[in-house]
Amino acid sequence: MAPDGKNLGYDDTPILPGTSWHVHDGNRPQPAIVTPGTESSQAAPGAAPSDAVVLFDGTCLCGWEAKKGGEAGWKVEGGYMEVVPGTGSIQTKQQFGSCQLHLEFASPEVVKGDSQGRGNSGVFLMGRYEIQVLDCYDNPTYPDGTTGAIYGQYPPLVNACRKPGEWQMYDIVWEAPQFEGDKVVKPAYVTVFLNGIVLHNRKELRGWTSHRVVTEYEAHPAEGPLELQDHGDLVRFRNIWYRPLKDYDAG
Ligand code: MG
Repeated sequence: MAPDGKNLGYDDTPILPGTSWHVHDGNRPQPAIVTPGTESSQAAPGAAPSDAVVLFDGTCLCGWEAKKGGEAGWKVEGGYMEVVPGTGSIQTKQQFGSCQLHLEFASPEVVKGDSQGRGNSGVFLMGRYEIQVLDCYDNPTYPDGTTGAIYGQYPPLVNACRKPGEWQMYDIVWEAPQFEGDKVVKPAYVTVFLNGIVLHNRKELRGWTSHRVVTEYEAHPAEGPLELQDHGDLVRFRNIWYRPLKDYDAG
């Protein structure tokens, strides 16, 4: 409905199945207004959208802690954070579920190691489900461990890696799994873009992430932290934010 009370649509049209709205219903809630962010460049990160929750703005790890407990041990400088090997994985103090997640990473400019030993880190959604971070520019490895893989489950559709040292962007749509007691009643789904290239299109996860084994779901709370992995390599991250994933007609 327009502010002057004028009906913007139709009320003499059929009802859309599964909803209480007519086709072109003018009374249906208007989509919330969001001011888009700005694009990142190699020189500088962009701004987050107006309704995003910023998890890392390049200045401090105040919203983060060590996964093992205590202070996050990674360093912050030049607008990014960098793994300090041996200090362990870090995670957000904030817990959340289904979301749109944006983050940027850079593999070490000085190339060292190969396969899983080159620029390894990881984005663990809800602290359990890993989207692999690795330097796979001219660095083959097992496909379900390639950059952007749902680690140990699905290789990315393509290898869209930039060169070591360059900033790369993940845009992820995460649908958290749902449980009733110990039983999974809706699995997790993930859509992943790397540098604007789709790697997974609403792919159903088989279970949580591990190494050399097949896993199944294990019940966990509806919300969890975002975890970044210390795998011993000097990987950098910047510009991390998320937007809770709302349903249609959320207003
Ligand atoms: Mg990893």
